[in-house]
Amino acid sequence: MDLVTVQSARVARERGDLALATGEVVIGGGTWLYSEPQEATGVVDLLGMGWEPVTRTADSWVIAATCTIETLRGLGPFFEQCADSLLASWKIQRVATVGGNIALSLPAGPMTSLAVALDATLVLWTASSERRVPAAAFVTGVRTNVLAPGEVVRAIEIPLASLHRTAFRRIALSPLGRTGTLVTGRRDAAGLTVITVTGGTTRPHRLAFDALPSAAEVAASVDAIDDWYRDAHGSPDWRRAMSLAFAEEVRQELA
Ligand SMILES: Cc1cc2nc3c(=O)[nH]c(=O)nc-3n(C[C@H](O)[C@H](O)[C@H](O)COP(=O)(O)OP(=O)(O)OC[C@H]3O[C@@H](n4cnc5c(N)ncnc54)[C@H](O)[C@@H]3O)c2cc1C
Repeated sequence: MDLVTVQSARVARERGDLALATGEVVIGGGTWLYSEPQEATGVVDLLGMGWEPVTRTADSWVIAATCTIETLRGLGPFFEQCADSLLASWKIQRVATVGGNIALSLPAGPMTSLAVALDATLVLWTASSERRVPAAAFVTGVRTNVLAPGEVVRAIEIPLASLHRTAFRRIALSPLGRTGTLVTGRRDAAGLTVITVTGGTTRPHRLAFDALPSAAEVAASVDAIDDWYRDAHGSPDWRRAMSLAFAEEVRQELA
């Protein structure tokens, strides 16, 4: 749609260009930004920064915020499962960015699910500063996060060790519906087991256990979640029940 409030558009090409004037917002793929009326008076295109979409270091994947969800899916089955959880047409999948999805911070944000599930670290930039936050601490509620004014998501650092063994469960009310709940699990070589619940809650929940937990331990941890989300894509009771069932399936799969 036309953004009738926008009076300026510029392309960020170097770090200094990330300094935002009053009323400016950054744009990744623009799939959400152009989908509803905005208050912004200016847009700053991050794609001009030319960040390498995916880099592999000795012990991590580094995903640029501007990497598209389509590109990310090529990294392996778990990435593909999360990418497929953005139930949008191929046109959206091809341009929507990983950083845009995380920064938007919707409960059904599959890139948030991915980052939390794999214990990723988010690299946050301003024009002149950098800080790192655990993905699990980034989203604080529905469309809210820890980004300070003028801060952008620069990259997502994913430890390769987190991919040792993973499990994935997701449900929606209809075959092509938005996520009702998304439960993941991972177990590393030392036995650390992490189960995450996203999609059905207002913010991500990371449940960590030093060793494979018992069924009762997992159930108690999921039961302690108190922010089950209510919207057109599911009721809190259904989301809680499905998350409990999935968490146990994930536990058994990781056993
Ligand atoms: C048909 C359809 C289905 C959709 N389904 C889903 C869904 O299931 N789940 C879901 O979460 N979303 C969904 N969306 C919304 C949206 O398309 C996705 O969240 C998408 O991943 C957003 O990425 P983008 O790069 O297009 O972000 P943009 O639209 O460019 O930006 C989104 C927001 O994030 C900000 N932003 C962008 N990049 C950064 C950055 N690097 N740092 C800081 N802020 C940034 C922008 O200022 C804006 O506020 C859907 C959209 C459509 C049209």
